[in-house]
Amino acid sequence: MMCGLSDSEKTMKVYIETLGCQMNRLDSELVTGQLLGAGYEIVEDLDTADVFLINTCSVRQQAENKVYSRLGREAGSDRRRIVGVLGCMAQRRGSGLLKRYPFVDIICGPGQLHALGEMIRRAADGEQTVACDPDRKDGRAAFEGNSSIDSLDHDRDTAVGSPAQAYVRVMRGCDKFCTYCIVPFVRGPEISRSPDAIYEEVKQLANAGRSEITLLGQTVNSYRYSAGDRAVGFSDLLERLSGVPGVRRLRFVTSYPTDFGDDILHAMRDLPNVCRYIHCPPQSGSDRILKTMNRKYTRTQYDSFIDRAYEIMPDVTIAGDFIVGFPSEEEVDHEASADLIRRSRFKNSFIFKYSARAGTVGAKTLEDNVPFEVKRRRNRELLAVQAEVSLEHFQSFVGREVELLVEGPSPLADKPINVSDDPNRLQMLGRTSGDHITVFQGPVSLAGQYVTARITDATAFTLFAELVE
Ligand code: SF4
Repeated sequence: MMCGLSDSEKTMKVYIETLGCQMNRLDSELVTGQLLGAGYEIVEDLDTADVFLINTCSVRQQAENKVYSRLGREAGSDRRRIVGVLGCMAQRRGSGLLKRYPFVDIICGPGQLHALGEMIRRAADGEQTVACDPDRKDGRAAFEGNSSIDSLDHDRDTAVGSPAQAYVRVMRGCDKFCTYCIVPFVRGPEISRSPDAIYEEVKQLANAGRSEITLLGQTVNSYRYSAGDRAVGFSDLLERLSGVPGVRRLRFVTSYPTDFGDDILHAMRDLPNVCRYIHCPPQSGSDRILKTMNRKYTRTQYDSFIDRAYEIMPDVTIAGDFIVGFPSEEEVDHEASADLIRRSRFKNSFIFKYSARAGTVGAKTLEDNVPFEVKRRRNRELLAVQAEVSLEHFQSFVGREVELLVEGPSPLADKPINVSDDPNRLQMLGRTSGDHITVFQGPVSLAGQYVTARITDATAFTLFAELVE
């Protein structure tokens, strides 16, 4: 869309909407800092914006449908402004999106976000930009030669984001090629960032008051950086980052089972500020389905990883993810997944119904042959099993004292909690180091601080607590 702006682009108001995973939230935060640094203003109200950026997700069809609906609404809007589609869907669809939405000014894949300010400037001059990474088949070298790998993270504005928490990317892309997943095609090959650059970023964030750092990677524990004869693995990285002054909690997501060596488990046990929390999706409990998914482990290997984790850290909290109704999944496979949840004692699991994603190996080679009704039933059943296991897990905390990082007033209330008229005693939300959402009454001034709380009650999703003086 041609923009009717006559003011300098430095006064432009930008609205950013973010869909999808933590990686996208981090990208949006980095883009926000970059645009603020370039003189743009970030606004919370789309109606006042000169630029509408939507940072997209391609993992599920539902997420893409949301983008189509937002663009459809934009097409019908009277307001003429610059529109940019960013992220995984921009990378996946490329200029194909322009056929359906010719008014879109910017198509920008995740690897090109560092140049977004310039793309907006060009859009203000009426120029359309399509900027995506090379096709995956062009190989790793094309991506490594791409100077953008580190630059968005490197120029980070540490003032942007929540007061106490920050995400830090340690690697990009994925080389695992699970048959259902689009990520290796839209985020490219697995490339680890230099440990020095990561250390420097964490140090700056800690200096800016961020005491909880979450390291991000599609398979974060596969991190491996080599330079000459020097190789740094994930446990080395944890050890180094745990020494950054001011880092009180160090987390990481998401992990891949076969890359979880004992060295990482020992580092988690021995480094006091590394949270004893593991999110390591099994996706299925059945060997046959794991093989069809191209997950590179067996059920026995996954079980043995869980056993090692509990043996080394009896108090570790583990979360999983599952896909139900994967092509050819039978009742016996579904039962195996339910059994895996019970055996692994997951705190929680994200459970999704399979849907074929265009561009994946699964969409090309596997027949989506489990009826929707069966998927829906299995989804409900697995959620019910997980809820039972979660309730037991959460209730085991009742009577214990925990440390919470207070995030702010609670936006959720799955169980009513008395809130007095005193504005200093709001229902607040905090998180344990094991990632348990906890609500308690307290003053809003606690946001961003650590408190000790005693757990008084629990549901399958939430702990309820009172502050310990
Ligand atoms: S490990 Fe599998 S599911 Fe995870 S990002 Fe890579 S391909 Fe996708």
